Amino acid sequence: MTRAWLIGAGPGDVELMTLKATRALAQADVILVDDLVNPDVLQFARDGATIVHVGKRGGHPSTPQAGIVAQMLEHLKAGRSVARLKGGDPFVFGRGGEEQQALHAAGIEVEIISGITAGIAAPAALGIPVTHRDHAQGVVFVTGHGAGTSEPDWAALAATRMTLVIYMGMRRLSDIVAALLAAGMRADTPCAAIESATRPEQRHALATLGDFADAVARAGLGSPAIVVIGGVASLALERACAAVAPQAPSLPMHDENA
Ligand code: SAH
Repeated sequence: MTRAWLIGAGPGDVELMTLKATRALAQADVILVDDLVNPDVLQFARDGATIVHVGKRGGHPSTPQAGIVAQMLEHLKAGRSVARLKGGDPFVFGRGGEEQQALHAAGIEVEIISGITAGIAAPAALGIPVTHRDHAQGVVFVTGHGAGTSEPDWAALAATRMTLVIYMGMRRLSDIVAALLAAGMRADTPCAAIESATRPEQRHALATLGDFADAVARAGLGSPAIVVIGGVASLALERACAAVAPQAPSLPMHDENA
């Protein structure tokens, strides 16, 4: 029977991929891979599998979404099983929902294999829990990419007082910070940005909201990165200070990469 899977490859570290994902990869005839996926996960593909790279990163040349779905359908109709491999979780800013709809419309069942999303794994890589009873009763996953009418309502988000985890937020970071400050979010709110989380090249910056955009620019951080805004981000600094000097007096939030 021909099979189709939408698979989350996790945030980067191969060991953060699920067993279910590795088993599906081992069965697939064709694997369509997004560019945020660590190529090392392809070690789980079976010998002779066809690997197709279909990058979709903002600003880079990429295969249009319709073209990706068309390729999947072509292989499936020819009797080949197809694994669509995405970074993180396929249903979190991964357009997995759209691909599922397109496959359903063509009468094809697709199995969804969840992955660990960068919005949880990247903060965790710095010791930041996205919720914590002392800091936040919830977390909002939001894209910083939207423009014009699709712009998130930053004032409404600031009012929730929940942890904000922003995907694709680096290019518009100073606008986002300005909108949150204008909405009354405190300038001393702890913030973190984590680039290439769980990969060997992982880098980060920690700062308070008032200094955050400058700190990220000074550290030279770019995409892909997750931005965390809220009290929970202070836990990264606590951990960093404890590692350096257990009895250190409390230090101001700072950019660790400067
Ligand atoms: N489906 C993915 C998200 C895709 S959107 C997931 O669940 O993680 C692409 C955005 O994800 C990037 O712009 C960045 O904000 C974030 N991202 C993905 N992998 C990342 C990583 N290893 N480190 C930091 N951010 C990452």
